[in-house]
Amino acid sequence: MASTFDCSSVLPKTFRKAHGARASLFAVCCIAAFTFGAGISQAQNTPADVPPVIDVHVHAMDDIPGAVPMCPNTAKFTASDPKTKEAPFGWVQEECTPKLYPAAKGEYMKDVLAEMERLNVTAVVFGDPRSVQKWKDAGGKRVIPGTAFSNGIQPGARVPVDELRKDFTTGGFKVMGEIGLQYEGLSPSDMSVDQYFALAEELDIPVAVHMGTGGSGRANISVPTFRGSKGDPLLFEELLARHPKLRLQVMHAGYPMIDNMLTLLQANSHVYVDVAGLIWSYPIKEVNHYIQRLVEGGFEDRVMFGTDQLIWPKLMAYSISVIQNAEYLTPEEKRDILYNNAARFLRLDTSATK
Ligand SMILES: [Zn+2]
Repeated sequence: MASTFDCSSVLPKTFRKAHGARASLFAVCCIAAFTFGAGISQAQNTPADVPPVIDVHVHAMDDIPGAVPMCPNTAKFTASDPKTKEAPFGWVQEECTPKLYPAAKGEYMKDVLAEMERLNVTAVVFGDPRSVQKWKDAGGKRVIPGTAFSNGIQPGARVPVDELRKDFTTGGFKVMGEIGLQYEGLSPSDMSVDQYFALAEELDIPVAVHMGTGGSGRANISVPTFRGSKGDPLLFEELLARHPKLRLQVMHAGYPMIDNMLTLLQANSHVYVDVAGLIWSYPIKEVNHYIQRLVEGGFEDRVMFGTDQLIWPKLMAYSISVIQNAEYLTPEEKRDILYNNAARFLRLDTSATK
C-alpha cells in the first residue's frame, strides 16, 4: 500500500520521548515526508578495494517504530485545502520499485554500519553524546562523532556551554552539529547562540548547520516554528563576520536558495556545503540541477557528499548512486564530492586511504 512517513510529525511522539535530552537534533533534520516515487538503482555487492567515501551527515538513531517504506526523489508537492483534514506533509504519493525499507526492529545501526563497511564509508554521525558514543563503540574508525547544543525537544533549550566544551576537548567529538535553529525560527546569527559558535571558533571545531530544506510541503501543520526565510545562506554573514575563523558546513546546501548560497561561497572560503537530504528527497532533475549550479559556479571543491542517513539502511547507497550517475560531473569531480572535499574540510589524515 502506498504510504507516507513524516519525521517531523511522527518523531515527536515516539523517538523524541524515548530519547530525551539532546535528542531533537535528529528530528530537526527530518526534512520531508516520503512517498513512493521514482525507480531506485539497487546497490550491488562491491569489491573490497572500492574507493573511500565520506558521508558528512548521518544521524545516530535506532529504528523507528511505525516507519514505512519510502520512494526517494518524489516528483512533486500537492496542494491542500485548510477546510479539509490535511496530512502533515505535502509530498505526492507515488509508487516505485524497489522501495527503500526500514530496518527490522533493533537492527538499524547494525545494518547501516554494515552498509558503511560494504561501501567503504566513513561518516560524521550526529546526535546526543550517549547515542553517538553507541555508534562510535560499534563503528570504530568509520564513525566521526558530532554533537551540538540543542537540549531536548523544547525550542530554545540549550546544553550548557561548559558541557559542550568538554564534549569537544575531552569527549572525542569532532564536529558541532547538526544545529537546527531554522526549526526554531532562528537565524544562525542570533546572538542567543553566539557563545556556541564562539566556542567552535576557539576550539577550531567545524560547525554544521541545517539550512534550507524542511517544509515537507506542510510546515504550517507539522512544524509551525519552522521558517523558510531562516534557511537563507546569507543569514550567516553576520555570524561569519563576528567569527572570521569559523569553518562552516551549510547542511542541505541552503536548498533551494542557490543564488544566495553562491553569494556566501563567493564571499567566504571557509564555507562548504553538503548535499544531504536534498539529494534523495526532491525531484531528481532538480537535485542534479542544483548540484550542477554549485559546481559550475566554481565551487566544486566545496561540495561534500552527505546522506542525512536515517530510517532506511539502503538510503546511503542510493544517495551515493545519485553522484555516481551524475552525467554532468567528471570522474575527478565525483571523487572530490564523495571524498576529497570532506577530507580537506575535516582535516582527515588521508595518507592511508587515497
Ligand atoms: Zn538537516
